[in-house]
Amino acid sequence: MVDIDKIISLCKRRGFIFPGSEIYGGLANSWDYGPLGVELKNNIKQLWWERFVHQRDDMVGIDAAIIMNPKVWESSGHLSNFSDPLVECKKCGSRERADMLHTHGFPEKKDTELYWECLNCKTQNLFKPRMFNLMLKTFLGSTEETASIVYFRPETAQAMFVDFKNVLDTSRKTIPFGIAQIGKAFRNEITPGNFIFRTREFEQMEIEYFIKEEDWKEKFEHWQKEMWSWMIDVLGLEKSHVHELDIPDGDRAHYSKKTIDFEYDYPFGRKELYGLAYRTDFDLKNHFKEAPYKDQETGEAFYPHVIEPTWGVDRSVLAVLCDAYTEEDDRVVLKLKSKLAPYKVAVFPLLRNKPELVAKAREIYFNLKKEFTAAWDDRGNVGKRYYSQDEIGTPYCVTVDFDTLEDKMVTVRDRDTTKQERVAINDLSAYIKNAIQ
Ligand code: ATP
Repeated sequence: MVDIDKIISLCKRRGFIFPGSEIYGGLANSWDYGPLGVELKNNIKQLWWERFVHQRDDMVGIDAAIIMNPKVWESSGHLSNFSDPLVECKKCGSRERADMLHTHGFPEKKDTELYWECLNCKTQNLFKPRMFNLMLKTFLGSTEETASIVYFRPETAQAMFVDFKNVLDTSRKTIPFGIAQIGKAFRNEITPGNFIFRTREFEQMEIEYFIKEEDWKEKFEHWQKEMWSWMIDVLGLEKSHVHELDIPDGDRAHYSKKTIDFEYDYPFGRKELYGLAYRTDFDLKNHFKEAPYKDQETGEAFYPHVIEPTWGVDRSVLAVLCDAYTEEDDRVVLKLKSKLAPYKVAVFPLLRNKPELVAKAREIYFNLKKEFTAAWDDRGNVGKRYYSQDEIGTPYCVTVDFDTLEDKMVTVRDRDTTKQERVAINDLSAYIKNAIQ
C-alpha cells in the first residue's frame, strides 16, 4: 500500500489538494481542493448523480439549506445523541475519542480502576469518558443570544425526511422511491486527521430510499449490490481493498435494524469508506405527527421505512487516489478510470519554437476542449510532458509533429500501456470519446 505522505505530496505539488488557509499557518485539518482536485471531485459527484438520480426512474434529487431549523435536530435526536465519548489528558489537555483508544491497547485495568495513557505526553489518566456533542454551532442574525443558536447540519440526510411531503406532492413518485442529495456536512470531530479522511467540514452523497416495511431485506440487498458496483465499476477500486463490516447488535444506532460499513484499506489502516443502514420508520415518525404517505390502492396512510446508503465524497477521493497511485520504473502513474481523470487529454506541439506546430496544436487543443477537459503543455521535451501527465492521470496525450502538417495525423499516447498510435485529426474526438467510455 502506498505511503500516505506520497499522496499528500503529489496532491500539493500538482494542485489536487492544499492545506486550507496555508499562508496564515493553516487551520487544523482543513483542506482546499485545487484545480485538479476539484475536477476529480466533481467527476465523482457527477457520475454519482447520473447513475443514481438521472438513470433511475425511482429517484429524485434535492439541494437543501445547510442550516436548518434547530427543531429538526431536536426531533432527529442529534442534539441529545449525536456525541462521541471523549477523554482529556490531565497534564497536556490532549483529547482522544474514548471508543478509539482500544486500537492502542487502552484502557487498561489497574487495581479496580481503568486507566488510559495519553498518546501525546504518555501521562497515565483515569479513564472517565464524557459525551461530547459533535454538532457545530453558530448564531443566525445580529444578536448572539441563545434564541438565535443554529447548527450546521452534521449529515445531509435529515433534509430528505423533512422535505419528504413536499417532494411526494410535487414529484408524483410512489414507494419504493428515493430522495438523493449531495452537499456539505459539518462535525466537531474530536480527532480529525489522516489527510482528508476525517475533517470537520466534508461532503456527503446520500440517498434515503422509502419502502414498505416488508420489503426491507430485498431493498437492502439491492443497495448493497449498487454500492459494490459503484466502488468497483465506477471508482475502479481493487475489490480486495474493500471489506464489509456487519455492525453487530448493540453497536448500531438505536434505530437501525441492520448496518453495513464498507471499509477500505487506507495506508493508515482499514477504516470506514461508506455506510448502508436500514433506519426503519424512525425518522419520518419523528418529524411527522401524522403518517405522511397514503397507499395508492387501499388509501391507507402509513410511515414508509427507509434504507440509507451513504457515501463520503472526500473519502471517495482519497480511496481513488490511493488505489490509482502506481510507481512503474521511474514514473509515477495515477491509473484513474478515465471518466474520473481531471484531464481526459493533453495536447503538445513537438517543439514550442516552431510557430506552425504551435498553431496547429492550439487549433486541435481548442477543438478538443469543446468536448473534453484538456491540458496544454509545451515545456521541456515530450518525454517529460508524458511523465507530468502520467502523474495526474491524464489518459491520452496528443503530439503534433512535422508529419502532422503533411498527413493531418497526430501521435496519441496511452497512459497505461505507453503505446503510441497515429490517429487522423478528423477522427481524434471520436477516438478519445470511444476510449474513455
Ligand atoms: P466514522 O465512524 O468514521 O466517524 P460515521 O459512521 O460517523 O464515520 P456516518 O455518520 O455514517 O459516518 O457518515 C456517512 C459517511 O460520511 C461516512 O461513511 C464517511 O464516508 C463520511 N464521513 C463521516 N464523517 C466524516 C468526516 N469527519 N470527514 C470526512 N468524511 C466523513
